[in-house]
Amino acid sequence: MTEEPGGPGSTPGSTPPVSASSGSRVIPPVRGMNDVLPKEIGAWQHLEQTARALLAAYGYEEMRVPLVEHTQLFRRSIGEHTDIVEKEMYTFEDVGGDSLSLRPEATAGIARALISNGLLRGARHKLWCTGPMFRHERPQQGRYRQFHQIDVEAVGFEGPDVDAELIALGARLWRALGVTRVRLVINSLGTAQARARYREVLVAYLRAHESALDEDSRRRLSGNPLRILDSKEPRMRPLIEAAPLLTDYLDEASRGHFQALCDTLEALGIPFTVNPRLVRGLDYYSRTVFEWVSDALGAQDAVCSGGRYDGLIAQLGGEPTPAIGFALGIERCVALMKVAGAAPEPAAAELYIVASGERAEREAARLAEQLRDALPGRVIQVNLGGGNFKTQFRRADRSGARLALVLGEDELARGVAAVKPLRREAGQTDCALVDLPARIGALLAQERVAAADAACDAQEVAGAGSRAEQAGRD
Ligand code: ATP
Ligand code: MG
Repeated sequence: MTEEPGGPGSTPGSTPPVSASSGSRVIPPVRGMNDVLPKEIGAWQHLEQTARALLAAYGYEEMRVPLVEHTQLFRRSIGEHTDIVEKEMYTFEDVGGDSLSLRPEATAGIARALISNGLLRGARHKLWCTGPMFRHERPQQGRYRQFHQIDVEAVGFEGPDVDAELIALGARLWRALGVTRVRLVINSLGTAQARARYREVLVAYLRAHESALDEDSRRRLSGNPLRILDSKEPRMRPLIEAAPLLTDYLDEASRGHFQALCDTLEALGIPFTVNPRLVRGLDYYSRTVFEWVSDALGAQDAVCSGGRYDGLIAQLGGEPTPAIGFALGIERCVALMKVAGAAPEPAAAELYIVASGERAEREAARLAEQLRDALPGRVIQVNLGGGNFKTQFRRADRSGARLALVLGEDELARGVAAVKPLRREAGQTDCALVDLPARIGALLAQERVAAADAACDAQEVAGAGSRAEQAGRD
């Protein structure tokens, strides 16, 4: 496993460098907590917008819960003997002496919010939220200490229809994003009682092979034996492979629930694999659990994970309410979008206004505002901070704009501005200032078409190139 000091975007070193100019120590970012830089943000926004639109279309409503909760909430919901609660939480005492924790996941906060706000009372809710989560894990590719999730919850539904709906929503999201290398793994954990029965059988089996257990598994044996099935330690594999199966201890109702889910997924044409050893790390799950995994992510292969938590709300003091949800890891999903070539570039400027001379600069500022009024949504940048024409054209080029508007003393005197395409061979033409909004609007529309054509041509050339390469290999 490669250890990455920084994150997906930045790679800060561990020793803070000394700034050459000021001589003072540069303050490093916190390990495992990443900046999302402008060159990355296009993919994040595309994912967020696509998910937002899909969730609305399925009738899920957004809610926002605090980043900080009482530590007790996570202890009681996620479970004392889980990795998260045992060693991964950012816990601190606030000035009032309360023990608080940064949220390691969102389900507990949402369940708490439904109870605190009196929203249960037999009501049903389809909810989602997004934002940062915090876990003190060992930072590496795909695993960070501040990471982001889109969290979706259906509360008050017994399923299995809603279980299938959540999975269908996930499948649709991959299609909408153009992500292909994902596959679905599902299992049923049965009811708490069924699991307790299985737990006894499993513990007896593992105790009989105690000498073969690694240190982590030995520690889990009394607290959270099911988690041993999740062990990534290679020498534990054979033992785990031969362990009794939870599936054989399921109660009849859970078995029926699971079968109905499988049948619906088949009817929906969503391929899946049943993995009887998928247990998921948190204590609150019951019945359906699922994971979308990818072979394109390396060791951290789960991009979206979820399950049913029928007992959680009652366990937190609310009325017994069945529920199911999933959380999608945004960083891992963005990585998959990149692998699929489906991560959009940040939006470039469309028009760059170049102006030379004090009067022309003032006029440029006025024109830019006028054009922004007339052409909402167009990306218009005006040159800031002066500079000669050469410098300004260099900036125009870097901005990605396809069109420059040029204003000098000469143009001003004639009541015109010069319009110059920047991405194709074409001379500049004059346009009367009063006609600018309409003319620029039309030209930008033409340029968009030209840009789309150029992108298509480039794709075809690349496609032909790789076909030729493929043919060469065959
Ligand atoms: P893993 O098995 O990778 O540790 P998990 O079972 O702990 O994942 P969940 O708590 O179910 O994960 O969180 C849901 C999703 O959030 C995961 O599928 C993954 O995409 C993402 N995720 C979890 N932990 C991290 C992390 N430390 N950094 C980045 N993404 C994460
Ligand atoms: Mg984890």
